[in-house]
Amino acid sequence: MVTVESPLAGSQVHGTPLPDGDAVLQALDNPIAVVDDVGCIVSVNDAWVAAARDGGADESATGVGVNYLTICDAAVGPGAEGAREVADGLRAVLTGAAESFSADYRCATPTQERWFNVRVSPLSEGSGAVLIHHDVTPVRQAELEARAGETRLLRALDESSPIFVLLDSDATVAHVTERTCDLLGLRREDVIGADPFGFVEPVDVGRGQQALGEALSVPGGRTRIECRVLDGTGRRRVVDLTVVNMLDDPVIRAVAVTGFDVTDTRLNQIADRLKQELLEQLPAAVVAIDDGGGVVYWNQRAEHMMGVPAEEALGRLLDEIGVRSFDPAVLRTITKAARREARWEGPLDLLVPDGTVIPLHTVVERVDDDESGFHGMVAAAIDVSERRMLEHELAFQALHDPLTGLPNRRRFVERLEEALASGNPRAAVAFVDLDDFKELNDRVGHLAGDEALRTIGDRLGLVLRTDDVVARFGGDEFVVGLHGIVDTAQALAAAQRILDAVREPIEVEGTRVRLSATVGVAMANRDLGAELLIRNADAAMYEAKEQGKDRVALFDDALRERRKERRAFAARLRRAVHDGHIHAHLQPQISLSTGRLVGFEALARWEGDEAEFEDTAAFLAVAEEGGVVADIDQLVLRETCVALGRFHAERPELGCTASANVSAALLADPTFPAFVERIVRSAGIPPALLCVEVVESALADPEAVAGNLRRLERFGIEVAIDDFGTGYSSLSRIQEFHVDYLKIDRSFVASLGADSDHDAVVAAIIGLARALGLRTVAEGVETQAQADRLRVLGVDIGQGFLWSPAVPVEDAVVLVLDEPPTGPPCPGPVGDVVADR
Ligand code: C2E
Ligand code: CA
Ligand code: CA
Repeated sequence: MVTVESPLAGSQVHGTPLPDGDAVLQALDNPIAVVDDVGCIVSVNDAWVAAARDGGADESATGVGVNYLTICDAAVGPGAEGAREVADGLRAVLTGAAESFSADYRCATPTQERWFNVRVSPLSEGSGAVLIHHDVTPVRQAELEARAGETRLLRALDESSPIFVLLDSDATVAHVTERTCDLLGLRREDVIGADPFGFVEPVDVGRGQQALGEALSVPGGRTRIECRVLDGTGRRRVVDLTVVNMLDDPVIRAVAVTGFDVTDTRLNQIADRLKQELLEQLPAAVVAIDDGGGVVYWNQRAEHMMGVPAEEALGRLLDEIGVRSFDPAVLRTITKAARREARWEGPLDLLVPDGTVIPLHTVVERVDDDESGFHGMVAAAIDVSERRMLEHELAFQALHDPLTGLPNRRRFVERLEEALASGNPRAAVAFVDLDDFKELNDRVGHLAGDEALRTIGDRLGLVLRTDDVVARFGGDEFVVGLHGIVDTAQALAAAQRILDAVREPIEVEGTRVRLSATVGVAMANRDLGAELLIRNADAAMYEAKEQGKDRVALFDDALRERRKERRAFAARLRRAVHDGHIHAHLQPQISLSTGRLVGFEALARWEGDEAEFEDTAAFLAVAEEGGVVADIDQLVLRETCVALGRFHAERPELGCTASANVSAALLADPTFPAFVERIVRSAGIPPALLCVEVVESALADPEAVAGNLRRLERFGIEVAIDDFGTGYSSLSRIQEFHVDYLKIDRSFVASLGADSDHDAVVAAIIGLARALGLRTVAEGVETQAQADRLRVLGVDIGQGFLWSPAVPVEDAVVLVLDEPPTGPPCPGPVGDVVADR
């Protein structure tokens, strides 16, 4: 009898040896037991007993007679699960529910751990079952070792490869190492079970899927791919991955993806490449020269710029390849700076082998690089030819007239000053002003006008000597610097050539036009600066215009004297205005149909002992030249308004008006309307009582006066065109400016009856005025016959010595007071007016 330690967890059974007929069983190495129909062990073989002994059972125990099911059901500890599984299997076989049963179970003793496979086979007709055990411990151990091997493999892979991911057969992530997660800033739980392509830069997904597909196409298939993945912070990292299909590997059973992060390497490579490319393709010549003076680097741009290929330049001195600094001193400075380790930046003009000079903006740095062994300077140079050209262009523009390309005033003055300073006073200035150019411009348009100016500019250059300077000062003014002039005769001859050149017909817009010019000439002398010389020529030109255009005048002593006198006179006139010696006198205006006083014209009078001119027209001409006329106009306007205030206060029912003459200068003054409004308001009169008289030529520059006239009109002031018929009449202009009166010039009135042409003109003017809804005033009416004729022609108002000259304001007030109450018309002179002149 042997005591068998049952393979069932630590239980002891006692049994009897197998029957002799079962000697075969005895011979087998596998522990075998036979149980009856209720599970009681009926016999065991020696291997069973030995195994039980190995398991720690005592020698005598064989287990026979023990119920195997009971033992199994009672099992506790780590093997209990397996024991019960075996019990269930045995029951199933004993009851016929199962044909056989097999299971592995673990059998642990304090000293060892073994694995058994138990196979239960039924005996015939419900007489029990045979339990055959196999010791499968070696197989199990091999398996465990393989497992361990797997983890070792994983660990090895993990250690060797910063990125390690296993993909399941469905290409989801089955395993990812901590290191991979750390590297990519990802959380393990986000990665496991996820689609790995969710972490790949979208544009790389296609390639990635293709690589995976290739690896999957054959067992053990392997592909390599570099792609970008988005790390946990959303940054792109470049990874170099190897994909190995290990789905068929009994241990791994997955697709292994291993690899490493090559981001930094790639970035550095890109940077290196860019640096190289950049140096080569920079729009700057980059040249490195070692301390010995030899060229060690010469980029493509340097090749182009200098016309020297790198292979010729390398290893040579700049001098040897024919590249030199235009100013050798600059290169010396640069070399010195580089030796002092200073940076140098500045303009460097290089003379290159083909003989051209290239203006460069250059930066030079000292470089000491022990790694490459380079010690020397690196220069980067940009070709600034274009910029230089632009600078020249700008300088040219600053000094030249854009229309003609001729020197402008500034340039002309500069050059004249240079010429004068050179100590050679043999020079003259001719001031050329085109006659009536404004009219040509109006007629042919600005573009054609510009063309004409260019033509004139060209011509002047042709008729003058090469060292003469033709400049355009703007508008229709050209100024010529005549050099090497010996005397006035020569200067005047040159001026005559200018006149002739301008007179030549000009073709503009398909039509021939003729122009003329007025030229003032001034001779240089030692004490005259350029500006003064130009001013003298201008004054001579002005003088020539006065004498009637298309001619030359020389600035001589007589002219200088006249100018001096005029300047002095203007000064005295200004003082007279200031001191109150100039006043408005009022000349009555009479209705030709009723013979009644309807208003006055205010005329400036210089009174007192200081008065130098009796003739207002004469002193006003000087006033205009001296810039005093606007002061006089304002003074007269102010006194006119005061007078109107008095008329209006005394005899408001008369509606007595007054008109005042306004010079072109004041009419164009932007402050003029406000001034008028102010004086009208302070006089307390209806604005319609005041009328401003302007001459036609004052309207010649519509832009300057249109705004002012509109504002005056809105305010309610009336406007009269003075001296109508003598100027350059423009019907459209009169309509445009909403004029109220036309004043028929004295010259027409004087010749009424004597000159039938004039009669016709006066009739035409009146017809015109009627058509435009304007009232007419005839001035200079001296005789009753004239008055009658004008009345018949339909003129509304007369003004002249027939009734009265201009009288002081006090006398005018008397006239207004004496005016009889409105009653029946009484043609003829009014009252008994005493002429003051
Ligand atoms: P005007 O506007 O045509 O003024 C009329 C001129 O004719 C005045 O000359 C006047 O005295 C004169 N006159 C009036 N009745 C007769 C007449 O029956 N026969 C003749 N032969 N002449 C007559 P005055 O005062 O010498 O003024 C000359 C010009 O001076 C004026 O011509 C006007 O254009 C200008 N003027 C006068 N005062 C002013 C003023 O305050 N400002 C401006 N800007 N110009 C003024
Ligand atoms: Ca007038
Ligand atoms: Ca007039």
